[in-house]
Amino acid sequence: MLGLMQDRPLLISSLIEFAAQYHGAVEIVSRSVEGPIHRYTYADANRRSKQLAQALGSLGIGLGDRVATLAWNGYRHLECYYGVSGIGAVLHTINPRLFPEQIVYIANHAEDRVLFTELTFVPLLEGIAGQLESVEAIVIMTDREHMPETSLPNVQCYEELLAAQDGSLDWPGFDENTASSLCYTSGTTGNPKGVLYSHRSTVLHSLASCSQDVLGLSSQDSVLPVVPMFHANSWGIAYSAPMCGAKLVLPGMGMDGASIYELLETEKVTLSAGVPTVWLMLLQYLQQTGKELPHMTRTVIGGSAAPASMIETFEHDYDVVVIHAWGMTEMSPLGTTGNLKANMAAWDYSDQLAVKSKQGRAVYGVDMKITDDDGNELPRDGVAFGHLMVRGPWITNGYFKGEGGEVLDDGDWFDTGDVATLDPEGFMQITDRSKDVIKSGGEWISSIELENIAVGHPDVAEAAVIGVVHPKWDERPLLIIVRNEGSNVEGPEILDFMKGKIATWWMPDDVTFVDEIPHTATGKIQKLVLREQFAGYKLPTA
Ligand code: AMP
Repeated sequence: MLGLMQDRPLLISSLIEFAAQYHGAVEIVSRSVEGPIHRYTYADANRRSKQLAQALGSLGIGLGDRVATLAWNGYRHLECYYGVSGIGAVLHTINPRLFPEQIVYIANHAEDRVLFTELTFVPLLEGIAGQLESVEAIVIMTDREHMPETSLPNVQCYEELLAAQDGSLDWPGFDENTASSLCYTSGTTGNPKGVLYSHRSTVLHSLASCSQDVLGLSSQDSVLPVVPMFHANSWGIAYSAPMCGAKLVLPGMGMDGASIYELLETEKVTLSAGVPTVWLMLLQYLQQTGKELPHMTRTVIGGSAAPASMIETFEHDYDVVVIHAWGMTEMSPLGTTGNLKANMAAWDYSDQLAVKSKQGRAVYGVDMKITDDDGNELPRDGVAFGHLMVRGPWITNGYFKGEGGEVLDDGDWFDTGDVATLDPEGFMQITDRSKDVIKSGGEWISSIELENIAVGHPDVAEAAVIGVVHPKWDERPLLIIVRNEGSNVEGPEILDFMKGKIATWWMPDDVTFVDEIPHTATGKIQKLVLREQFAGYKLPTA
């Protein structure tokens, strides 16, 4: 027997429509590329998204067509989120930090028909426009006054496109499983692969993200996603903020400590989200200037492991609760968040910190398990570590155009490529990427755990650990350090600092210093590049 409930499709347009109706006066504040801070409301955003939808219609864009953006976090990008997906076209957010040849590859692979670009990226596009095979029009996201002289073909001015439309459109209805947006994720090997979200997956992910134990986003919040809208939909905040009527603060291209701080302060931001590198810059700025964070109550840290020292600084020195989150592009991206459980409230801070340094516990909707190399499930004892497998309604079931082949096993489990433990309380801890784990004498050593401990040393700005070939043990860990400015710290001091915090056989065999550690376009350490760089490295123990 079927239930007698309405089967209304879960559509992205309903998020902005709802925000306009019930939180119409709530502000969206953006740092614009042109310079000034721009302010308007959800009611304005909905109207202008509809104007954009009409404009796309006039360009011949409809259901299933791919429309790309090369844009920062800002109000026009938000309008693309709703204007494009709202009519059943597919919003393809391109990461502008990718190499130009990767951008060409993914725009051609996605068969993008229209490309929206910020002024910032016009020179980049001029260099590659001739190679973009499917792009029929390039829309520059600015007004007539700021339109640049450009060699780009078929250029349109964003504000002129909108001005020609009256915004009288009613958002159309269609199947909730329709593709809504596309985000390429750059593996360390092979070409980037496209993750194709649906309206249903996006709305369900947003509902989860607003719940108290996840991000707890609500109409009481002023939220500033530092995490870019071109990377996993700013962890869904571009959708979840309208869903709950939170004030949205979009930082544009200003990611440095001073620029972020200014918005946190003037816009009374209560919740923010970003990768550890961004928070490092903010904390340095706060320490240099002696400024405080009076409005912020919590911050989400994810994308890479949040070091315990960073969590403690936020919580103790600035009274900001850290929500450590883990996920991936393939998961929309939220998988786990690290809010403490009720029974942990009375624990010593050091015990709480140990839990908060883990990557968090599953969000309802995400099933997780860990397995050995043969696919056997491993115990949830917080000790055994294995391949982290996930499944759920906002997790991919295959990459765009079938790239990479079958990605689910018989039970529909998706292999995250992360290696992790699960503890009896349900908290997951990443111990490595499966390709980065160090295999020493048949046992695994977690490179991430060593890095986390090393960055706790006051003279260490950044740390990376890779496995280096060893004649007896196959691989042994090499610790690569970027010193803090002005520091002369040497290897033995760092190893001394690590003693007692890990098993002795996990101790790195050597420490080496570099000026810079290479990062991917999404801010992750490029272990592959490091492994190449240190390919012939001779360990003192070898
Ligand atoms: P991406 O799809 O680019 O967002 O990358 C996803 C990957 O980032 C995950 O599979 C993890 O390896 C890593 N990651 C994300 N969040 C965390 C975290 N909190 N701690 C450690 N690694 C993380």
